[in-house]
Amino acid sequence: MLISRQSYSYEMLRSELTWVVGDDNVQTDCSEKLAHSIDYYWVPEVWHDRGLKPQTPTFIVHPGSAEEVAEILKIANTHKIPVTPWGGGSGSQGGALPMYGGICLDTKRLNKVLEIDPVSLTVTAEAGIIMQHLEWEVQKAGFSTMHFPASIACATLGGFIAHRGTGVLSTRYGKIEDMIMSMEVVTPTGEIINTLPVPRHASGPDLAQVFLGSEGTLGVVTKATMKIHPLPAVRKFHAYLFSDLHSGMVAGEKLMARRLAPSVIRLYDHASTISIIKRVLGIERKGAYLVFGFDGEEDIVDLQMKKAVAICEETAVEDLGTEGGQTWWDQRYKFYYPPYTFQMPQAFGTLDTVATFANIENVYWSMKDAVKEHCPEANYIGHFSHWYDWGCMLYARFIIEKPPQDAAVAVALYNRIWDAAIRAAIKNGGVINEHHGVGLKLGRIMRDLYGPAFNVLEGIKKTLDPNNIMNPGKMGFQGV
Ligand SMILES: Cc1cc2nc3c(=O)[nH]c(=O)nc-3n(C[C@H](O)[C@H](O)[C@H](O)COP(=O)(O)OP(=O)(O)OC[C@H]3O[C@@H](n4cnc5c(N)ncnc54)[C@H](O)[C@@H]3O)c2cc1C
Repeated sequence: MLISRQSYSYEMLRSELTWVVGDDNVQTDCSEKLAHSIDYYWVPEVWHDRGLKPQTPTFIVHPGSAEEVAEILKIANTHKIPVTPWGGGSGSQGGALPMYGGICLDTKRLNKVLEIDPVSLTVTAEAGIIMQHLEWEVQKAGFSTMHFPASIACATLGGFIAHRGTGVLSTRYGKIEDMIMSMEVVTPTGEIINTLPVPRHASGPDLAQVFLGSEGTLGVVTKATMKIHPLPAVRKFHAYLFSDLHSGMVAGEKLMARRLAPSVIRLYDHASTISIIKRVLGIERKGAYLVFGFDGEEDIVDLQMKKAVAICEETAVEDLGTEGGQTWWDQRYKFYYPPYTFQMPQAFGTLDTVATFANIENVYWSMKDAVKEHCPEANYIGHFSHWYDWGCMLYARFIIEKPPQDAAVAVALYNRIWDAAIRAAIKNGGVINEHHGVGLKLGRIMRDLYGPAFNVLEGIKKTLDPNNIMNPGKMGFQGV
């Protein structure tokens, strides 16, 4: 339902929302609407860049409690108005874009740390808190969440839960879905529910996992309890140069297969070693740069490091030492911000994919071929981060220096490259994706990715959200 500003339905709805959250917490001015019409998805960025009119929300509403969220969702159900949760607006998939106008539910007033439990090692916080603020509070008490994504300063706890986010130290501490103990969620019809207080049990399926990764389509996460960890006594890094991607990959696989429990491994392909590693770290080499690290008690870390170094010494062409690793850790977020990241007028897409070790190199090469076939002038670079016992994530990117000026032509080219690359990845055993989510960008592939199992997801959506008010048109679910 599109609501025009002059209509009485607009004023009726505005007064109902104002009764719930107060006048100051319902915004309708043009600048706020524009600010809530763009995240880090390239398509709305190009739209803004070319001066075209973006889709904006009708109301931006800032609830201060789960009860207020529940009231807003009840109002939205009565009037059948779409509601799009908004955390930091840092998502790269267009997940928070208000496709059909309606209510943008900005969670940032839900920003309190409620409890740190030093016995069970958990922290409970409201879901709109910026992750860096949560980490600072936890560190004051001598602990860490160990969740260090590059967007830590601009994304919320709820946003990471919604997108199954991953931090730099995921190889040891897991993704957000491994870090969460329990959650409070407001369902689309306005019930406030809690998942079970511990994440391991045999009391039926794990309800928390239904909401983890649901991208605001199944409800609003209002509170979460996370695991925390003692601050490590030491954190050590080491880097090596390999002659090519394959030999670096084999070394990384061995580090995982020996179950050495590194906190991080990152392997950069030749294209990123000669470009981004040189520019950000000042290390000018040809080949494949590999960095790894361990943290914890010093004697244990030293032993882990000794064994990891021995593995790399077998095939590496150069030892870049602890300094070559430490500098990566010190600069780790820089890769993703100006002047080092890609930005307008370039077109760029992060082809984030996860696969087993048996498939991951084929995924890398097949996506590269697909990108080149559909856009020979595109550059393709990649690195491998977030390693598991069984495989790892490929963070590949295509970059077009001068995309077409006409936004519609540019978007069509962009989508063509994405489609070709994704289908190449899936054909080679890849799963799109590891931590950026689906959003608007990848909704069209969900049915292909899941096959008949997608009907199960649609069934859950229809049951929880009978009026399809929650973030319609995202994650491959039906639009309005
Ligand atoms: C520079 C940069 C670096 C990045 N690095 C990383 C990284 O290292 N690791 C990583 O995982 N991601 C990274 N990202 C991507 C992004 O930060 C994550 O996707 C993050 O999870 C988005 O959080 P947000 O609060 O900004 O959510 P938004 O962009 O506001 O929303 C994302 C989705 O979550 C939904 N949502 C938000 N809050 C809630 C809630 N409380 N309940 C239900 N649904 C909700 C929205 O409706 C939307 O669908 C990066 C992004 C940028 C711009």
